Amino acid sequence: MNEIPLHHLKGVGPRREILFNNLGVRNVTDLLYYFPSRYQDRRNFKKIKDLEVDEFSAVKAKVCAVNLKIFPYFLRKKFKKVKSVFEAILEDETGSICCTWFNQAYLSETIKPGVSLVIYGKVKVSSSGRQIIAPEYAIEQDDQALGIGKIIGIYKLPSEFTQKFIRKAISSVLKNYLPKHSDPLPYYLRRRKNVPNIAKSLEEMHFPSSWEDAEEARERFIFEELFLSQILVYLRKAKRNFQQGASFKALKSTIEKIRKNLGFKLTTSQEKSLTQIVDDLKKSHPMHRILQGDVGCGKTAIATFAIGICADCGFQAALMVPTEVLAFQHKETLEKSLKGLKFLSRRNPGEVIKVISSSLTKREVEDIYKELRSGKIKVIVGTHSLVQEGIKFKKLGLVVIDEQHRFGVAQRALLSKKGKIAPHCLVMSATPIPRSLALSLYGDLDSSVISQMPNGRKVAVTRWVKEKNRAEVYEFLRKILNKGRQVYIVYPVIEESLDQDLRPLKIMYKKIVEEFPEFKAKMFHGQMKSKEKIKAIKAFKDKRADILVSTTVVEVGLNIENATAMLVENPERFGLAQLHQLRGRIQRSQHQPYFTLISRENLNAEASRRLEIISKEPSGFKIAEEDLKLRGPGDFFGNLQHGLPNLKVANPIEDLEILKQARFSAYELIKKDPYLSQPRHRCLREHIDFSLFSKQ
Ligand code: ADP
Ligand code: MG
Repeated sequence: MNEIPLHHLKGVGPRREILFNNLGVRNVTDLLYYFPSRYQDRRNFKKIKDLEVDEFSAVKAKVCAVNLKIFPYFLRKKFKKVKSVFEAILEDETGSICCTWFNQAYLSETIKPGVSLVIYGKVKVSSSGRQIIAPEYAIEQDDQALGIGKIIGIYKLPSEFTQKFIRKAISSVLKNYLPKHSDPLPYYLRRRKNVPNIAKSLEEMHFPSSWEDAEEARERFIFEELFLSQILVYLRKAKRNFQQGASFKALKSTIEKIRKNLGFKLTTSQEKSLTQIVDDLKKSHPMHRILQGDVGCGKTAIATFAIGICADCGFQAALMVPTEVLAFQHKETLEKSLKGLKFLSRRNPGEVIKVISSSLTKREVEDIYKELRSGKIKVIVGTHSLVQEGIKFKKLGLVVIDEQHRFGVAQRALLSKKGKIAPHCLVMSATPIPRSLALSLYGDLDSSVISQMPNGRKVAVTRWVKEKNRAEVYEFLRKILNKGRQVYIVYPVIEESLDQDLRPLKIMYKKIVEEFPEFKAKMFHGQMKSKEKIKAIKAFKDKRADILVSTTVVEVGLNIENATAMLVENPERFGLAQLHQLRGRIQRSQHQPYFTLISRENLNAEASRRLEIISKEPSGFKIAEEDLKLRGPGDFFGNLQHGLPNLKVANPIEDLEILKQARFSAYELIKKDPYLSQPRHRCLREHIDFSLFSKQ
């Protein structure tokens, strides 16, 4: 690859190099792949008399007069930093027009009367007639006339760069470095797919000769990008099949005991996922599976089986969760559902199932380190404190990641490396994404989906109301509280902020206490100490509090079955996925849940759209699709850290067909050449980012 630094290019000094770096362009190859975000057709020259006001047009004309005004220093302030004005009158057989450039006095040396000029710019009218301000220009026959009379690419750039500058830079890179740039797509694949080679494709992306050629090149790069990402996926998968893992004998008695402890019958969908996981655990290479399912479908129960089996086979299991409160909740659930298992016999569950969290003392943490190394602790639950350096396991056999979208792939990899052999790995996610995306994002993971909710679960009644209904909403909450149910009230901020529209939790808490004197309310938010937070949740869980006044810290994972109503204030401030997660908190029992959103009267169109979607759509799967449409793939993907190269041209939803082809081609290739060692794959190898490969 061309790792040549950018300051080797003409016109690129240290300052511009930094600007380029900010765009993610670090070397010559990056620049070659810095594609236009759109194109403009500048092939048709207009006659001067036909120029339309406020339109961008290209004109070919002769300079008939020029005028350069240079302002003395004392006048500059008055004219807002304008040092000079250069005007040229252009003329063709139909008329004339004035072009004006500011602070470019040097133009007077090239743009002289009699010179033929091609320009491109927007036509404006002023008191002195029509004119074009600061048009792009080129002397005719000048080989730098890259931008005029052609289809040209428009690049996303910081204000310090002009389009013309980047075109020149790319043009020179194409001229000088292209021959050294190798084609990641092997020749036989290019022939089979009938796609142009890298040199032609890069030329056509930046300086298309026609719309068709531009499109052909774009498709090639979509394929290339998806193909490279899928190669990575299959390389990871292939590597795993060579890894030695722990093979667990899934004991029937272990599984039966857990079933009994759970106290409910698994859904068909849960049963299916369980079978798949148990099968994986028996194999001698490590499991890598994602368990997907909407909020509240019962993923924890399935993970519990894997953890129980692991511990009963004499190995240690680690469960990583995004918040401390969740860690304690999971520990409690595990203690209940693993009761009576072999590994717990004659032991106090509190000694072998432990939580590691930031609220422990140094001493306690060190004890945990010791007990993990000695193998005394069999199951450890924790936040990202689990990936701390001090942690080493004696015999790590299973890693479970809950709410995996909250973690980076790197963290998952770090945790997996803490044992001596590669552990089985189960990741769980409640962000349901369309299958096509799942393939490209999690293609290296096997997938299980829990597609149904436990029997008797009721869908929340969702209502979006305006401020004027507040009294009525409070009355409604009172009714629910009177029935013995509990209520969450969620606020967007903790304290008063500059934004007058937002209701701050601390102030509203007092109002809630006044409004509901007969009930007990507790606060729960991120400024509280860990211990206080855990105490507050415990009080709520034990029904010592009726109302939990909270921020979105309740968003993930919390499981309190008797809390069946939630009021969200300023819901316009929350994303769709977030609102759906919040709603998931109250759909956890047989009771009818109520989800109420209270917003001010006038919201912008996008916020209204979101609130309409959440009011009408109960399915997390559909909501994720709508979310994707509203936010676009870049933003959506940004939040799912997936350890694949960033996609620049491809959009896995729109380009689903190409994704399938790329996936298949990658699969075939890795099947034949799992180490990419064949000479015909040498160039491909050069283009694989192996730093991503290690993050598995
Ligand atoms: P999530 O998938 O969102 O993590 P949880 O695992 O927290 O969901 O489960 C939500 C609630 O549903 C828990 O209280 C759990 O005990 C209960 N649950 C799980 N599976 C079933 C089932 N098959 N029948 C009845 N309740 C279930
Ligand atoms: Mg969960």
